[in-house]
Amino acid sequence: MGTLAFVVYFQTQHLNAGVTLSLVLLPFEPVRFVLLIGWVYICFYFVQRVQFSPLVSKKYKSIAKITTLFTGPLLLFVLLIVDARKKSLESNRGIFAVIKEQLEHISARLGTKEESAIQLVDSSGRSITEIYGHGKGRQKDSHVLDVTEQIVADALEEQASDILIDPTDEMTYTVRFRVDGVLREVDRIEAAECQAVINSIKAVSNMDIAERRRPQDGAFLAKTPEGTVSFRVASAGAVNGEKLSVRVLSQSGGMFKLTNIGLSKKQRAIIQDALAKPSGMVLMCGPTGSGKTTTLYAMLEEIDLFTRNVITVEDPIEYVLPNASQIEVNPKAGITFAKSLRSILRQDPDVICVGEIRDEETAAIALRASQTGHLVLATIHTSSNASALVRLLDLGVSSLLLSSGLNVLISQRLFRRLCRDCKRPAQLSQTQIRDFSRKGIDSTRIYEAAGCEQCRQTGYRGRTAIFDILTLDHQLKASIASGDLSITQLRKEGDKKGKSNMQKQGLKKVISGITSFEELKRVVG
Ligand SMILES: [Zn+2]
Repeated sequence: MGTLAFVVYFQTQHLNAGVTLSLVLLPFEPVRFVLLIGWVYICFYFVQRVQFSPLVSKKYKSIAKITTLFTGPLLLFVLLIVDARKKSLESNRGIFAVIKEQLEHISARLGTKEESAIQLVDSSGRSITEIYGHGKGRQKDSHVLDVTEQIVADALEEQASDILIDPTDEMTYTVRFRVDGVLREVDRIEAAECQAVINSIKAVSNMDIAERRRPQDGAFLAKTPEGTVSFRVASAGAVNGEKLSVRVLSQSGGMFKLTNIGLSKKQRAIIQDALAKPSGMVLMCGPTGSGKTTTLYAMLEEIDLFTRNVITVEDPIEYVLPNASQIEVNPKAGITFAKSLRSILRQDPDVICVGEIRDEETAAIALRASQTGHLVLATIHTSSNASALVRLLDLGVSSLLLSSGLNVLISQRLFRRLCRDCKRPAQLSQTQIRDFSRKGIDSTRIYEAAGCEQCRQTGYRGRTAIFDILTLDHQLKASIASGDLSITQLRKEGDKKGKSNMQKQGLKKVISGITSFEELKRVVG
């Protein structure tokens, strides 16, 4: 008798659990509603069975009924714990953290689905649902699109500059954000689901979904309540699958000013002076991710776009400037920096901005323009001011052209600011303290990173830059023009001098508590 009753209960609960699980996992509401009614119905059906069953003796009936009603949810709870335990062992995280995350996940899925605050569209304005949300698995697609939109929304909220999606192994993909220049893992997604997410991004970026190995480029836009943000996408085949990197562009358009990017008063005056001149070249130097583009836009912000005709050539256009003409290069379509520059010059601009000097032709046209009544702003991918001079000479630019066109060289590095909410006085050694006091430096204002909720335990929030500025005065121009400045000498001493200038600038920021010694070391060495 007991055994049979148990079998009945077990089957009921098994069914209950199955139904409950699908309730939790199903994103589609009407189906969820029907299943809920079904579950309630089955519960009552079995309570009835217990009530009239001759197999259960009278005195156990109420207990049996209660058990029937509650074992379902209880079993679901046990299943969740077991699953969480498994995940916690896999990911090396605490079981409570996993449970909390899962409950949030479930409540987000069960909660009434809000009209998404972010909408992904392709360059012609078609939404991601129009492009991707068709076909057999529409429900599944709708879930995939939710995940995609959530990833993009999270990246924007955290002010990430890049989203990187890579296969970890055959089963899982990792999603990482680059925030303040540092990569951080934000999610792990099961391979099949993540491949669908990658496909949806490729679809909205007008890329070929079927091509998974050959590198591809694309772009899409996100419409948010704060405005439109553009993204650059690159995909390529990788071991165990396909990797995708998404660059977040134009997020803080118009926000950069020369006053808030970290320049000292003296440095700002030098740049403003150069920008006020009708001609000459201001050249930004720095490796990838050093913030040259930001400074370039801050300089353009300083220029009156109404009275001066400004034209930019960029790859890609990162921020939209309301009153400037911006041209995006596209080497595949034959639109190169050099070609664009030539056509721009026919439009008689006052200010020309060259996204990046990569070849001799571009360098020569830009320098010649800077000699003939145009203010030219440009960037070059080198580590220091001296190496920029070396690079230009290496490219084959004549020393005479270089010396007459170039006015100011600026190289820069970005570093993270200490989080204001949790930074703590640095633990300095006795020798360090003695050293500082001998130099008359107040070492009590030196701080180090701690970590709190505000900064997601990193100890840093936001970034600022340090600059090394070189003005080409008459003497320097003369020595470049006469070829007195030998390349080998420049190469040997320039980088060293640049580095020590940077270290000096960085140290100032450490002493005033803006950043830490560790961060300075990480960036400048
Ligand atoms: Zn903090």
